[in-house]
Amino acid sequence: MSTPIARGKVSPIPNSQSPIPTREVHAVQARGDLLTTAQVCRELGLTPAKVRRLADEGYLEVSARSERKYGEVLLFHSGQVSRLKNQMPKILSRWASEENVRYGARKAGIHRAVEPANAQEVRKRRDQFLSSLDELPEEAAVLLKASYYLYHLNHYAKTGHQYLYEIKERVLKHFVRAYINSPYLEIVLVQGQQRSDLCPGCRSRANKLNLTYGEYAKSYGGCPRCGKRERYYDLFEFNIRYDNHRFSFHTPFSAARKWFPGEVSLPRQYRGHLQERGLAFGRPITEREARALPMDEVIQALENIF
Ligand SMILES: [Zn+2]
Repeated sequence: MSTPIARGKVSPIPNSQSPIPTREVHAVQARGDLLTTAQVCRELGLTPAKVRRLADEGYLEVSARSERKYGEVLLFHSGQVSRLKNQMPKILSRWASEENVRYGARKAGIHRAVEPANAQEVRKRRDQFLSSLDELPEEAAVLLKASYYLYHLNHYAKTGHQYLYEIKERVLKHFVRAYINSPYLEIVLVQGQQRSDLCPGCRSRANKLNLTYGEYAKSYGGCPRCGKRERYYDLFEFNIRYDNHRFSFHTPFSAARKWFPGEVSLPRQYRGHLQERGLAFGRPITEREARALPMDEVIQALENIF
């Protein structure tokens, strides 16, 4: 059986199948019907291992395989990849739950007695926190609720789920659009060092001195021919405060600058160490606590903000 990829039909090719000639694959790729694993990674914001997992679990069919000098290349149908985009939050959420279960199982020996009580305690605190918002000004309540869940989302995002960072960006963008003048929200532009991209001359000087390019740039700063990226390490800091609730989030300047109207001028700060934090009732929310809320609930709550 040969796979009729030229007509754009998707069908999985079992391992045993003979590879499609590279020339044909190139022709099809040029038409944009098939995507390589790397392209799928970019499309869906996933690592290659996760794209493999999508294929293993049947979400993605391998439309073609091609043997190259450096190994096998898997090709996926682009239509199928874009249809998968909407499903990714659910899939990632399920994977994360499974990972949490495995993580829980490993730790079960140590935490058997403690963990369930903690999760219960977290849910109690969540209910307490959410019901306390009823008495606040509506604007403060919305900002705090979103921040509370965003803080929890952050802990899942750090496990490498690109999609969760997208949700974070959407929430912060919504903050800018809807609450930039709110007394409960302060946005600060935190300025970092500029980044130097060393020119070939400076790179060879760095090599001679046995320094990494980063070390060289730090010590010598680069010459006028080196590229300078002025705002590379700049960040926006979002501070949400009401009473003894405090939340703090960061997003890169490059990603967020376009959210702000041109004439807006933000307070600026130079600061070294930055930390995202969540204090509800003046008490910090710990990482462990954050994980006790299921990711489904977190995503659902944040999507309801829009
Ligand atoms: Zn230079």
